[in-house]
Amino acid sequence: MNRRELLKNGLMAGAISLVPFSDVFGSTRILSSHSGEDLSAFKKIKLGELELFILTDGYIHEKSIDTFAPRADISQLKAILRDNFRPDDYVDMAMNLMLVKTKNRLVLLDAGMGIFADERTGFILKSLHKAGFSPNDVTDVFISHAHPDHIGGVVDKQNNLVFLNADLYISKIEHDFWLQASIKDFKNSFLKSQPEFLNQIIPPIQNILKTIRPKLKFYDFENPLFDHFSFQLAPGHTPGLTIITVTSGIEKLMYIADLIHSDVILFPHPEWGFSGDTDLDIATESRKKLLGQLAKTKTKAFAYHLPWPGLGFTKKKDVAYEWIPESFMN
Ligand SMILES: [Zn+2]
Repeated sequence: MNRRELLKNGLMAGAISLVPFSDVFGSTRILSSHSGEDLSAFKKIKLGELELFILTDGYIHEKSIDTFAPRADISQLKAILRDNFRPDDYVDMAMNLMLVKTKNRLVLLDAGMGIFADERTGFILKSLHKAGFSPNDVTDVFISHAHPDHIGGVVDKQNNLVFLNADLYISKIEHDFWLQASIKDFKNSFLKSQPEFLNQIIPPIQNILKTIRPKLKFYDFENPLFDHFSFQLAPGHTPGLTIITVTSGIEKLMYIADLIHSDVILFPHPEWGFSGDTDLDIATESRKKLLGQLAKTKTKAFAYHLPWPGLGFTKKKDVAYEWIPESFMN
C-alpha cells in the first residue's frame, strides 16, 4: 500500500494522527508557508512563583473515528460524542505545549509537529514569538515521547536544530525503543495492522534522535531537575512516555502529555485505548493508574491533546472518570 492509499483509507490519521508525510518525503513546502488560517496563540498563567505560557501548535483533525479508540463499541462512542454536542464523524485534538519560565531557565514541554506539519499544525514558533520569546531563549526542551507531533519541532527541514541553545531531554527507554523499533514491537497495538505506516514513521523518528544526539540528555527519575521538575514513567502509549510534574511552593501541576487523547471518550472509558498506543494493555493500565492518582490528589493536569488550553481536573465518576476543564475569564 502506498502513501496515497494509506491516506485514502484514513490510516495515516488513525495512529499518531500523522499528517501528511509530504514534508518528510521530498516536498518543497516550507514551515512558514501555511496557506490557511494563522492558528498561533498563547495563554499566560501562574503557578506559584513561576510564569507558564501555554502555546498552541494548532490541532489534529482525526477522521478515522472507527479506529480512534480500538477497543470501543463504535455506536456507543458515537452516542457519547453526540451527547456532548460534538460531531460524531471526527475528533479534533488540540496540540497544547507549555513554556515554563523559572528564575534562570526557559523550559519548553514538547516541541510540536515541526517538520511533519500540515495546514492545521506547525504554529509553535509563531505562538512562542507571540508570547515574547525566540527559539534561542529556550534553555531546555523536555520531550514527553518521540511521536512526530511531539518531537518533529526540534529540527528544521535542513536537519538543523531549532532550539540552538537548548538541551533536549527524553527518557532513555523511549530513546532506545525507537532506535531499534520494528513492526514486531507493535503486536499489542492497533498499529500492527498498519505496517506500511510504521515503516514510514520509524525512520524519520530515528533520524531526529540521531540529529539531536549532541544535545540529548536523559531524565533522572530519582532526582528533580532545576528545583521545579520531577519525572515519572507512564508506559503504554509509548514505552518511555514521561509525565512531568511542575512544582512551585505548594502549587503543583502534572503534565500528562499523551496519557489520554479525548476528554469525553476516554475519561469515562480509559480501557477503550487509543489508536496510537504502542501497547493497548499497558497504556490502559497507566491511564487508569494516573487518572486515579489525579482524582485522589485533586492535582491540576495539563494535557497535550485535550481541548485548549488543556488545563483541568480529574474526578471519579461511576466506575471511571470525568475531565473538569479549568475555567478562565480571559
Ligand atoms: Zn501526541
